Amino acid sequence: MKNIASVLSILITLFFMSCYGDASSDLDRSNTASSYNNVDVALWSYFDAFEQEGKRRGLDIDLAAAGITGVIRKISDPGVAGTCQFGNHVHHVTIDEDFWAGANKNFREYVVFHELGHCYLSRAHNDQAFANGNCVSIMHSGLTDCSIIYSATTRATMLDELFDRF
Ligand SMILES: [Zn+2]
Repeated sequence: MKNIASVLSILITLFFMSCYGDASSDLDRSNTASSYNNVDVALWSYFDAFEQEGKRRGLDIDLAAAGITGVIRKISDPGVAGTCQFGNHVHHVTIDEDFWAGANKNFREYVVFHELGHCYLSRAHNDQAFANGNCVSIMHSGLTDCSIIYSATTRATMLDELFDRF
């Protein structure tokens, strides 16, 4: 986390994880309903999924009404997959375009949800690990050595953790 004084906001970065599991089980993204102003179209289905998963857990999430914006752009800092910039009237997600091009849907969702965890849920990082070495939270910083396993098997549990602390 670092302060960007010129825009009076805080930028939180997510570093590429050294391992992320289960590339074979892409999540279904066939039913996109919503549209979002000032959000790249490629991100819409992920924003929509974030709202739906929150709704399943009793949260009424409206990212458009909350003014969350998002783009896929080149992030110049090496190894950074995504950032959340927030401050006065700014809640802005940036996903690195090189990361995006090389990631499957699971890991794209992981990073978008992580940044929305900062930008919408106001969550900080959680670097806890289970006894088996897997990361507990989507809000892992990417800077410790627990294993990110975000798959059809672990997704529901990790989303419970993400939303239940809101
Ligand atoms: Zn983060």
